[in-house]
Amino acid sequence: MADAQANPGIPGSTRTTRLAPSPTGDLHLGNVRSLLLAWAIGRRAGWRVLLRHEDLDASRASGDACDAIEDSLRWLGIDWDEDATRQSEHLDPYHDAMRRLESRRLVFSSSLSRRAVREAAGAPHGGGEVRFPAELRPDDERAWRFDGSDTNFRAITRPGPEIVEDELLGTHRFDPSSEVGDQIVWTKAGRPAYQLAVVVDDHRQGVTDVIRGADLLPSAARQQRLHADLRFETRPRWWHLPIVHDESGRRLAKRDGDTGVEALRAAGVRPDRIIGLMARWSGMSGTPRSITAAAFADLLDEDALRRMVSREATEPLRFTKEDRRWLLEP
Ligand code: GLU
Repeated sequence: MADAQANPGIPGSTRTTRLAPSPTGDLHLGNVRSLLLAWAIGRRAGWRVLLRHEDLDASRASGDACDAIEDSLRWLGIDWDEDATRQSEHLDPYHDAMRRLESRRLVFSSSLSRRAVREAAGAPHGGGEVRFPAELRPDDERAWRFDGSDTNFRAITRPGPEIVEDELLGTHRFDPSSEVGDQIVWTKAGRPAYQLAVVVDDHRQGVTDVIRGADLLPSAARQQRLHADLRFETRPRWWHLPIVHDESGRRLAKRDGDTGVEALRAAGVRPDRIIGLMARWSGMSGTPRSITAAAFADLLDEDALRRMVSREATEPLRFTKEDRRWLLEP
């Protein structure tokens, strides 16, 4: 990395992690697992734990969903320090970041449709993502000025590898320029895109440890690029957690409505059952039993965490009918 270094820990101050749900509906059990593990790792180690609602996608997020998530977390026994924040309430820091990138001539506006980009870029890479190639950068000088307008802005992605050192998954090598090309950092809704918002917030909130689902591992490489482009002197450590699948092996998602916490709660499931299932999934208890979130944090030592990660590397976790039955058992 050119100008950002891995954060060796801030002397004299505690480390900070964050829970960063997207309030687009009921939390599903996969979300709960990542949030619970992030919380438990942070609490065991005595770190600050923040709650940040990632509600910038106005078409999907809602204030009511933020309230519902807080209610679900409290019900599960997961707490946080300080007041929860909502990204949509503080847009200035994102404008500042865009101006910073603009001053380094690293962002440009582009109104090319996905289709136009796809046609120009040829076949999408394996993830099906549309790559924005350098040839499509605009010549018009005005496009390199950021005015917060309702056009997509993209950040230049320089070619070359980006190495992600993950506390749990080890070293991974990505090449954002061949995967995504120039990535969107500002959307035509006049709001920051996910990648920019996360980097700005993790920096300004002093987050030293990002703990989240492994589906976001490639994003870590893209976020490292933005950390460097913004000349942030520190960047967080990464901890990417294995994710939960449904019985058919697909990633558990919001479409699986009946795996939502609110839906389970409405069906009479107790929070300690849900945490108990998480403990069994994490290899912390062989036989199913109900436990509290606090007991879960006590059981989760570093060895348990590492055993869980290496087991799930070969045996991905699935939410089965037996799991559901156990949750619903009186
Ligand atoms: N808001 C994202 C999600 O719910 C998580 C982002 C992150 O942890 O960086 O998937």
